[in-house]
Amino acid sequence: SLVAADVAHSMHPYTNMRAHEANGPMIITRGEGVHVYDDKGKEYIEGMAGLWSVAVGFSETRLKDAAMKQMEALPYYHTFAHKAHEPSIRLAEKLAEMTPEGLDRCFFTNSGSEANDTVIKMVWYMNNALGRPEKKKFIARNKAYHGITIASGSLTGLPGNHRDFDLPAIPVTHVTTPHYWRFAEEGESEADFCARLLKEIEDTILAEGPETVAAFIGEPVMGAGGVMVPPEGYWEGVAAICKKHDILLVADEVICGFGRCGATFACEKFGFTPDILVLSKQISSSYMPLAAIMVTDAVYDAIADNSAKIGTFGHGFTGSGHPVATAVGLENLKIIEEKGLVANAAALEEAFIGGLHAAFDDHPLVGEVRGTGLIAGIELVAAKTAASAFDPAAKVGAKCADFAAEEGLISRAVGDVMALCPPLIITEAQINQIIERMGRALDRTL
Ligand code: PLP
Repeated sequence: SLVAADVAHSMHPYTNMRAHEANGPMIITRGEGVHVYDDKGKEYIEGMAGLWSVAVGFSETRLKDAAMKQMEALPYYHTFAHKAHEPSIRLAEKLAEMTPEGLDRCFFTNSGSEANDTVIKMVWYMNNALGRPEKKKFIARNKAYHGITIASGSLTGLPGNHRDFDLPAIPVTHVTTPHYWRFAEEGESEADFCARLLKEIEDTILAEGPETVAAFIGEPVMGAGGVMVPPEGYWEGVAAICKKHDILLVADEVICGFGRCGATFACEKFGFTPDILVLSKQISSSYMPLAAIMVTDAVYDAIADNSAKIGTFGHGFTGSGHPVATAVGLENLKIIEEKGLVANAAALEEAFIGGLHAAFDDHPLVGEVRGTGLIAGIELVAAKTAASAFDPAAKVGAKCADFAAEEGLISRAVGDVMALCPPLIITEAQINQIIERMGRALDRTL
């Protein structure tokens, strides 16, 4: 059977492999709008849009048609050494048009992890080119998620991604997670908390030596670490510190980009413009693997000058700008625009985030409901306070996710945070179904 074959031969990412041998896989066979179906025909609302990624839902025929058309015309070609093809050119042009002013140069990779590795290498290459080879360190945050390769996994600030993998393996300092409810000191206001974190960032830069710090990287709203929305003024403050010390600001919008937070890009919502913007997931609704890095002219020019001096920018992937992936990406962005999905995310924020607050703020298992646009986290604790976390060994979040699946809702437990991140095509009625099903799962977890 499929189950036996999976248990016998597959190594699943992000899985307790011994538990998998005992429990077997959940096999998903098809999708329809915001729903997916398993091999027994059970229907689920995909409350995580896959992995925070399927903006247009699971049955968009225009993306299938775009892929087929490109498969027929030119299924593969690369973009090394001056080679080009129309889909990657058009998508780069489209991204330059959509992204904030000044981010006009695009480099494609296959995944978010490769994109962040590429960012590190671009930043190092740039600073070598500018004659400041000592300016190489990164600043990231605890609980950040920037990927899992050696370098991007080093930027990630989650112990499970470091432990027993010998990471971090590049020079990176992790600073405090901008999450007021969990990390504020007793009696500290949100404004004071924000000021303390900004001071920590500047103190870190000064302690390391600004001449050695190359870049600050962050997700505008932290996703895989447990959906954390920063305090007001945080990003404006980070941007000002970076500017003062000549440090590049990298916004990792692999999850946030293309409407997730109710604005086309979350940096626009939070009032800053990065020097480098990292995009993936909703760029193609993950129908094809694709990521993009957008950079300013200043970054581009330093890299371009050096490539002229050395004779090449010695970096890139066989799949960089893959024609089928970029054709699908371009069509996907057109659908997001034509269907007004960014506006849909903004319009449904009240029904979704407000609805989750109304339903669960008083629930005995819930410490905090948080989120923005169409991304939310519900943090489960024993006694309503941040200090009353459950013993991780009790796996309360994982149990709740299992109950939710039984109730017909796919969510994701990040430790004891229940993450929700539905497709951007969702309706208010479907949001209400998510809230009802999560409510039943929480009651069963009690
Ligand atoms: N950056 C962020 C913010 C992410 O959420 C992720 C994946 O969840 C990544 C990077 C890594 O992307 P990938 O899994 O495509 O390597």
